[in-house]
Amino acid sequence: MLKINPKFNGNIVRLNYYIVIKNQLQIITSATLDIFYPNHCEICGVDLNLNENHLCLSCLYDLPYLYNIKEQQKSLNQLFWGRADVANTYSLFNYQKGNQVQDILHLIKYKSKTKMAEFFGEKLGESIQKYEPIDYILPVPLHPKKLRKRGFNQSTLIAKGMERVMNVKVNEKILKRVQHNPSQTTVTKYDRWENVRSIFEVRKSKKIEGKHVLVVDDVLTTGATIEACLKQLLQVDGCKVSVATLAARV
Ligand SMILES: [Zn+2]
Repeated sequence: MLKINPKFNGNIVRLNYYIVIKNQLQIITSATLDIFYPNHCEICGVDLNLNENHLCLSCLYDLPYLYNIKEQQKSLNQLFWGRADVANTYSLFNYQKGNQVQDILHLIKYKSKTKMAEFFGEKLGESIQKYEPIDYILPVPLHPKKLRKRGFNQSTLIAKGMERVMNVKVNEKILKRVQHNPSQTTVTKYDRWENVRSIFEVRKSKKIEGKHVLVVDDVLTTGATIEACLKQLLQVDGCKVSVATLAARV
């Protein structure tokens, strides 16, 4: 049996507490700075006008939008061909390494720009609501351990923004994460799939029988995480599933 040195184990516990406290402080600091210095662009740093939020109009205008939603839907749906029967796939931005969208996602996830996540969630919701009648918005859940460390789930924040403009309820009780997912940064595509294959399950499945649900995540790259969610949801009778992410690599 593997014996863990109690001292070493204690250090890990202390380190975890440190990370939780550090992240909570970051959220508080970010919120406090937003109160006292609310008006600067998160990308270029210029002062914002009263009608601007988070980004100046120039930076907001320059973002790589995926405008043609019908065409875009086709190419994004192709990501899931032969993998899962997704109804529609929506995304607001084209995600590429080193582009401003990567900066935005980084600010949301690692600099606790929670209000900005909701702001872009609203933009994503606005682009979808004219096309789809949806019954529930389901954010891709984070593992509780990760949620404790980060202090928030970025997908839930995006979903909350969408809820406001689409007038469709966010439900966090249906899609659940059941197993810790190791870091995805150094593994191959196959490893990634193996990592995520069995980490989601559907609770209260009666609620979504015959319904159309929208799975929400921050970014769509290989699609492995979302595919794992889709596979579980599509086992529910008559459940139709669409996907929306803030950004997608197309
Ligand atoms: Zn700017």
